[in-house]
Amino acid sequence: MRLIFLGAPGAGKGTQGEALAKAQNIPHISTGDILRQAVAEGTPLGLLAKSYMDEGELVPDSLIMGLIEGRLEQADAQKGWILDGFPRNLDQAQALNELLQKMKQNYDRVVYFMVSQKILIDRMLERGRKDDNEATVRRRLEVYRERTAPLIQFYRDIDSLEVIDGNADVATVSNSLRQLLEQWLGQN
Ligand code: AMP
Repeated sequence: MRLIFLGAPGAGKGTQGEALAKAQNIPHISTGDILRQAVAEGTPLGLLAKSYMDEGELVPDSLIMGLIEGRLEQADAQKGWILDGFPRNLDQAQALNELLQKMKQNYDRVVYFMVSQKILIDRMLERGRKDDNEATVRRRLEVYRERTAPLIQFYRDIDSLEVIDGNADVATVSNSLRQLLEQWLGQN
């Protein structure tokens, strides 16, 4: 199973991605988690990424594509994956298509977690991560709207998009996700 999770910061992609990946025994690949780890370890990637992350801006595509290519080539990613937080703009989405073509792989579906602005802000402020202070939260949502939200239409146009209501609690969203995937697997 190869899935792309799409949605704003705070939409629940991480929580759902982690749980589903575990159940399917495939890696949950979160570019945000990989970058945070790189920052914590002070690696060259982390040093380059840190200022962008602290500001709520996107890390440059060249860094992200290198990171993703390396990760998708690893042995555990050959039987499937869930991508969370990538792609984040149209150039990354195109680059992912080309990378997968080169690797002779393809994703199955893109799952868009639709969540209201108010719930997103509440969740992020509750989560209280370092890049979740009020100014950064606002900027992250702006960047999402400008750069990432166009991917919804991009994937809808190529008939890859599934939409789930991500406003509810974790268990309810997880049920909707399971139903959606069962339905899709039943048809394919
Ligand atoms: P996330 O945990 O997915 O919200 O990511 C945290 C931060 O990491 C983002 O605000 C960006 O600065 C950076 N980041 C994560 N994924 C990407 C990506 N695909 N492209 C660019 N920057 C990213």
